[in-house]
Amino acid sequence: MKKKITDYDIKNKKVIIRCDLNVPIKDGIIQDDTRIRASLETINYCLDNGASVIILSHLGKVKSDEDKKKNSLYPVCVRLSELLGREVLFSHDTRSDNLTRMCNNLKIGDVLLIENTRFEDLNGNKESGCDLDLAKYWASLGDLFINDAYGTCHRAHASNVGISKYLESGLGFLVINEVSKLDNIINEDTHPYVVIMGGAKVVDKIKVIENLVSKCDKLLIGGGMAYTFLKALDYNVGNSLVDTESIDFCKRMLDSYQDKIVLPVDSVVSESLDSDKCLEKDINKFNDLDMGLDIGSKTIELFKDNLKDAKRVIMNGPMGVFENKLYENGTREILEYLAKNNIKTLIGGGDSVSSVNKFNLANSFYHVSTGGGATLEYLEGKILPGIGAISDE
Ligand code: AMP
Repeated sequence: MKKKITDYDIKNKKVIIRCDLNVPIKDGIIQDDTRIRASLETINYCLDNGASVIILSHLGKVKSDEDKKKNSLYPVCVRLSELLGREVLFSHDTRSDNLTRMCNNLKIGDVLLIENTRFEDLNGNKESGCDLDLAKYWASLGDLFINDAYGTCHRAHASNVGISKYLESGLGFLVINEVSKLDNIINEDTHPYVVIMGGAKVVDKIKVIENLVSKCDKLLIGGGMAYTFLKALDYNVGNSLVDTESIDFCKRMLDSYQDKIVLPVDSVVSESLDSDKCLEKDINKFNDLDMGLDIGSKTIELFKDNLKDAKRVIMNGPMGVFENKLYENGTREILEYLAKNNIKTLIGGGDSVSSVNKFNLANSFYHVSTGGGATLEYLEGKILPGIGAISDE
């Protein structure tokens, strides 16, 4: 078990928190402040318990001086200050005598945000390459390190993994919540346990399928990835998305788990994503130009039937090209069925969260995980480096 923020006496301490303040910003204006709000619990806990706070975060990718202009955390500093209702100091430097001085002068209740950690990537990839001199410098600024940036836990960077080599460390509330929800649903011994996989390609999710298929009772496969499985069974899938390099993997899965894997029996097809013409076809009726873009109505019923008595569900990826109104029905119907029937469901990994938001169902599930890549790797059964590096209890 890893140490948590609540395992430490933080009174009079300078707590360095790695937050995920990677919010969308256009022309200096924050488009969505969800991630800033999600960071408040851990920051406020520190302030309420007599600590001062130093915040590290990345914002976007920084590959050029041009990126530096677009990706300054300064607008985040202004918004954070509004949300906390107190001044937030800002360091334009990621490493300097001035930053050291600012940290030395912090008093109880002070909050300091350091500029985008990835500015250090212009200096020889120091942040993303986990440069230990940089990590040691950041560690020297405070007394305790807290990792609250779940979305980057699958990365070993200087500001999460490197820094924890030089300081006592613990997990913040956001990471604790994500991990406990994931652990709970993965390890609970209730059945039927159903996994729903969708999204674009099989190749991105091979390890998740391998890890979950032996544990679940049913694996329902929709989305683009279904056509690679169907191709492995020799169906003509026309122009549908097929991941040729994964066909052998699909054959192996179908041989070993034929009783568990449930594939679409019909699809909504079109000859082009740009066309406004589409129709439903059984999967043995495709012609060479058909592109499967959503699961059909028979498949929706088949999947619902397999979900009827489910005690827990993990859903990873949409059932079709849900961004297009013509192909949103499968994803919406399955999500609404899970919500309406109060089936304990964790949604996460890849792009699943945007579909939940599109259908206004964000508050209808046991958990909607915020970390795309991090959740995918957690579901693969990996220990995420940003969590593995934290001090043990
Ligand atoms: P992922 O990030 O792997 O969860 O993939 C999400 C993407 O898969 C979405 O942008 C969907 O538009 C896409 N997708 C879902 N179904 C299909 C399909 N049948 N053909 C092509 N792309 C699809």
